[in-house]
Amino acid sequence: MIGNQTALIWKEEFLEHDTGLHPEKKERLTAIHNRLVKTSYYAYLQRPDVVAAPLDVIAKIHNSNYILSLQELCEKKRSGFIDADTPYSQGTFHAASLGAGAAISLADTVWSGKAQNGIALVRPPGHHAVEESAMGFCFFNNIAICSRYLQTLGAKKIFIIDWDVHHGNGTEASFYEDDTVFFSSLHQYPFYPGTGKASNIGRGRGEGTNLNCPLPRGSMEEDYIKEFQNKIFPAMDEFGPDIILISAGFDAHKDDPLGGMELHSTSFEKFTRLIQDKAKEHCGGKIISFLEGGYDLKALSDSVEAHVSVLISS
Ligand SMILES: [Zn+2]
Repeated sequence: MIGNQTALIWKEEFLEHDTGLHPEKKERLTAIHNRLVKTSYYAYLQRPDVVAAPLDVIAKIHNSNYILSLQELCEKKRSGFIDADTPYSQGTFHAASLGAGAAISLADTVWSGKAQNGIALVRPPGHHAVEESAMGFCFFNNIAICSRYLQTLGAKKIFIIDWDVHHGNGTEASFYEDDTVFFSSLHQYPFYPGTGKASNIGRGRGEGTNLNCPLPRGSMEEDYIKEFQNKIFPAMDEFGPDIILISAGFDAHKDDPLGGMELHSTSFEKFTRLIQDKAKEHCGGKIISFLEGGYDLKALSDSVEAHVSVLISS
C-alpha cells in the first residue's frame, strides 16, 4: 500500500555544485529526478521546505575555520580542487549548506512524525567529509550533522547504516568515541579511503558502537545479507535505536564504474525492506536516508527508484 509517509528532498540548487566531467557530476541528480517523476508514487511524496543550514548546526560536526574558509574559497576563487578527487565551484558552498539543511528538514519532519521516513537526494555527498576538511567528493557530512541535530530534538540512540561501496570514514570519525550514535558500514576492502577494518570497534565510551563489515571485491547480494543478518541487525537489536539513518550510496552496483561489487538495483530494494522491518520493530519505522555515491546514471536511477519504492510502501 502506498501512503504519503515518505518525505523527499531534491533541489535544483544541488546542481550548482559544478564539477564538470568528474564522476560526481550534476547529471546524477538530474537522472534520478527524471526517473522518480515518472513513478506512480511521486505525487504522494511529501516535499518539506529546505533552507541552507545555519553555521552553528554545521559546526557541531565541522571546524568553524573550515566552514568559513570553504565559503570564502567558493566566493573568491570560484573553481578548483580541494584535493585530487574533490573539485569545487562557486555554487559548492551553497549546495553543501543546503544539503546540510536537508538533513535538518528531514530530521524535523521524521522525528515529529509528519512523515515516517525521508530521503535526501543531495549533492555534494557527505560521508567522507571530516571535521576539518572536505574529502573524497564530500564537503559537509550530512548524515553526521543530521545525527547531532536529531539529538537536540530528543533522539537518544541513533543507528547509522552506511552501504556505500566506500567506507564512511568521516562519519566513523565523528562518533568513534560516542556511544549515542552507532555507526555500521558495509564496504569494499581494501579500497578507498583505506579505513574500515573490522578491528576498529570504537574507543572509550564509544567502544562497541562502531561496526565495520569489510567485504572483498566481487561480493554479491547474499554476502551483504549475511552481514546484515549476522552482524548489523544483532548489534541493532542490542542497541535499540530511536531512529535509523542510511548513508545510501549506490556504487556497489555491478555496473558502477568506481566500485567493484556485484549488487543489482533489486539488491537495494531488499536491503531497504530488511532495514524497514527492523525500523518498524525498534522505532516506529523512522528512517532517514542520504544519497552518497553511485556513478552509473542508469544503475543509480534504477537503484534509487528501488530504494524509494520500499520506503513509500508500508
Ligand atoms: Zn562511494
